[in-house]
Amino acid sequence: MNTERSAALFAEAQRLLPGGVSSPVRAFRAVGGGPHFISRAAGSRIVDADGNEFIDYVGSWGPLILGHAHPQVVAAVQEAAARGTSYGAPTELEVELARLITAALPSVELVRFVNSGTEATMSALRVARAFTVRDKIIKFEGCYHGHADGLLVKAGSGVATLGLPDSPGVPASYAQHTLVAPYNDLAAVERIFAANPGQIAGVILEPVAANMGVVPPQPGFLEGLRRLTRDQGALFIFDEVITGFRMGWGGAQGLYGITPDLTCLGKVIGGGLPVGAYGGRRDIMELIAPLGPVYQAGTLSGNPLAMSAGIATLRALQSGAVYEQLEGLSARLADGLAAAARAAGVPVTGNRVGSAMTLFFTDRPVTDWASASTADRAAYGRFFRAMLEQGIYLAPSQFEAAFVSLAHTPADIEATVQAAERALPQVRVAS
Ligand SMILES: *Cc1c(COP(=O)(O)O)cnc(C)c1O
Repeated sequence: MNTERSAALFAEAQRLLPGGVSSPVRAFRAVGGGPHFISRAAGSRIVDADGNEFIDYVGSWGPLILGHAHPQVVAAVQEAAARGTSYGAPTELEVELARLITAALPSVELVRFVNSGTEATMSALRVARAFTVRDKIIKFEGCYHGHADGLLVKAGSGVATLGLPDSPGVPASYAQHTLVAPYNDLAAVERIFAANPGQIAGVILEPVAANMGVVPPQPGFLEGLRRLTRDQGALFIFDEVITGFRMGWGGAQGLYGITPDLTCLGKVIGGGLPVGAYGGRRDIMELIAPLGPVYQAGTLSGNPLAMSAGIATLRALQSGAVYEQLEGLSARLADGLAAAARAAGVPVTGNRVGSAMTLFFTDRPVTDWASASTADRAAYGRFFRAMLEQGIYLAPSQFEAAFVSLAHTPADIEATVQAAERALPQVRVAS
């Protein structure tokens, strides 16, 4: 595969941008080789600067549930841009996207738009602390909630991929308010509450963890946390930045039948443009300025291009049996990968919820960060490179999800399984 142009661009990028990238995992450090610079995409395919085409399972890390350059999304953005790119004043588009979100997620009575998932979680914690008049929060090891100070404690995603300790530059005095429990360990959360009586403002989690690879909640875990937070006067905060409108129209909260107090959204609701949102119970959200004293603002928040892309995406998800279609394609892919691994004699654990999945290179069940981190990262790197060589673009890290979109065809899925059948024996030989 010719990668001359990407290599030249990467060399130039490294002169100008830290590590040559705008977000760390894009640099391919965990899997070796240089990143491919992408010049265009459509449907399930991305094309790099050298003209190589790939079937893409990154989907911009989750937003592109409709696939790349979906005609309705492109048209909505073009029409919005022609009417002006930003006004710094309210628009009907925000009202429409808020209508769609609150109709899909009954727990969200009021919603505030921001520009990223990071802003959403950061702001949700601020309002949770103001509402409870408490400082401490509980998060889970391996869950990623963006890069805000105080949430970069035992975080997943790039922090896990690069094996970074908690980030320098975060004052210990911030991080000390963040208490950490293992995912799926309700007893550990009970112990933290007992040791910090009346001090926990909220518990934040990914209701399906997807930033240490995909790790589903075990039966009773979410229910137990709901009961515990209610009993202790703490807020239960779902970070649905990945799972919202991915795990179903009602998100993970709809799938598992849990009502959180606050919900953070991003990714899919922006249709590939920079959007985040947080929302929840009216009595909590009423604390936000201008209704209340909790300050949070944004020059480009509710941006008309971003709102238009989000509206077009959610409307497309409302029409027809889209989640059934995603489930069928995703099940076929996960089953095909597992069978290919068995045939090649490579021990793997496949975790999947809906259209998000991870093939962990470990023989252990993966239920938390401790078990996820038993995965053989070097084996994943060999698998990743062998797949890339055959035109399949997976996440350049063991600890991320593969996302299936509505643009993936059964033929794409078959081609991917066949590529894995050829790639997996190489993973074993090299180990
Ligand atoms: C991606 C992600 C974030 C951060 O969103 P950004 O838009 O990257 O700031 C927060 N929480 C979860 C669960 C995410 O997957």
